[in-house]
Amino acid sequence: MIEAPVRPALLDQIAAIVGAKGLTTDPTDLAPWLTDWRGRYHGAAIAMVAPANAAELSAVVSLAATTRTPIVPQGGNSGMVGGATPDATGTALLLSTRRMNAIRAIDPQARTVVAEAGVVLQTLHEAVAAQGLRFPLTLGGKGSATVGGLVSTNAGGTQVLRHGTMRALVEGIEAVLPDGSLYEGLVTLKKDNRGYDLKHLLIGAEGTLGIVTAATLKLVPALIDRAVVWAGVESPLAARQLLLMLEARAGREMEGFEIVPQRCLSNVLRHIPGTRAPLGAPCPWHVLVEFARDAADAPAPEAFAQALMAEAFERGLVLDAAISASESQAEAFWKLRDSISEAERAEGPAMQHDISVPVAAMAQFIIDAGTAVEARFDGTEVAAFGHMGDGNVHFHVAAPRGADPARWPNDPGKEISAFVHDLVVAAGGSISAEHGIGQMKRDELARLSDPARMGAMHAIKRALDPQGIMNPGKLVAG
Ligand SMILES: Cc1cc2nc3c(=O)[nH]c(=O)nc-3n(C[C@H](O)[C@H](O)[C@H](O)COP(=O)(O)OP(=O)(O)OC[C@H]3O[C@@H](n4cnc5c(N)ncnc54)[C@H](O)[C@@H]3O)c2cc1C
Repeated sequence: MIEAPVRPALLDQIAAIVGAKGLTTDPTDLAPWLTDWRGRYHGAAIAMVAPANAAELSAVVSLAATTRTPIVPQGGNSGMVGGATPDATGTALLLSTRRMNAIRAIDPQARTVVAEAGVVLQTLHEAVAAQGLRFPLTLGGKGSATVGGLVSTNAGGTQVLRHGTMRALVEGIEAVLPDGSLYEGLVTLKKDNRGYDLKHLLIGAEGTLGIVTAATLKLVPALIDRAVVWAGVESPLAARQLLLMLEARAGREMEGFEIVPQRCLSNVLRHIPGTRAPLGAPCPWHVLVEFARDAADAPAPEAFAQALMAEAFERGLVLDAAISASESQAEAFWKLRDSISEAERAEGPAMQHDISVPVAAMAQFIIDAGTAVEARFDGTEVAAFGHMGDGNVHFHVAAPRGADPARWPNDPGKEISAFVHDLVVAAGGSISAEHGIGQMKRDELARLSDPARMGAMHAIKRALDPQGIMNPGKLVAG
């Protein structure tokens, strides 16, 4: 760790690299970036450094390596597991990619974009849309989440069903490794067998193996049109049957299949201004399905959705359904889904679990695990929502009314999380489907992973970052 007297000299050297615009030590400027999105983790930092390009970033990391100064990479700070929040010692540099926000190139023929790490997802969507293309990954935090953060958490979102997670969409990476060297891997090659794939090591590494400075991302044709269905269903099992029916009929046209319990919808309607219930009466559970058309010979989504919903009614799979008749209605349905986390934050403390089990097992898991948790922890309420089509839900356990928000997340929150994670592991699932491990799940990962996985992860970390300066305390300890 860096000794305090070295700091002024270090800051002078950093200032010489990044200039006045790229360095701040002002506590007021730093404050919003030292707490995570959910307000659960609070840290401290020597300074926030924001290089303007990969060369500056490389020089800053070289300096950090020489002085053994810890670095915490940060993009939009929308992560859900405290991965971008430094610890409280105040010995780390917070390295923000906010100034590295250029879209370097869009290639309509190859259907790729080269975007720097600090490009915000929404900006990326708009830039490629202007060229008749689409980056087919979106999520509720799209106004803040950056390319570097999305790559580093292997983000998922609501279109994984058709397009996969970031891992399927990243074609090349440029990154600064922990010794300050620049890995230049942006060129897209269909075939490349030069041994270990650094790109795949860096995807999902949460800033523990280096800092992504830019990525080449895969694009698809822009949508011609889409239809979004909001349907009420009796239970997760009915939702599963509906999913099976739609997978058999719709195939590529179905982009997303999300499940929402009435409890989450009620929270959204209560806390998020401008939202309206999509159906005439409450239903126990809801699903949101997106049908999209990006090829002229594909079926028109609205008529297609109507025919499929008519069949689902006949088969007794849905209780009620609304189909978007305009783009603004489609957006309104997605807003209900995307606002669930924000509404929950306003509602009160909850323990969040981002879990996956095999897709076929998810419906029964939601029911059984929900019942088990509520029986074991008095007054808690489970809300499982999200990407059911991917076998991934956000399994949230809300505190009983009147619980102390300062104490509850630790006691009994930690015990609740361990209980949920044990159920997930028993079902053959993962304790982190898309948000990553960060500091929130680090100890649980160590507790529940098999020794071979943890041994290999530690060995990779030690090999690439022998001084342990890259995002210490996240993902793997020590
Ligand atoms: C309302 C809401 C909804 C969300 N929905 C989803 C969802 O559906 N699916 C999903 O996957 N996520 C979701 N998220 C979580 C979040 O948006 C993603 O994890 C996103 O990838 C984080 O991007 P960021 O730029 O904000 O990263 P940050 O929060 O800044 O950082 C996240 C992690 O990546 C590291 N990091 C950041 N930039 C770099 C870089 N350039 N190089 C190396 N490491 C870096 C950080 O150190 C940290 O470990 C949601 C968030 C919100 C607020």
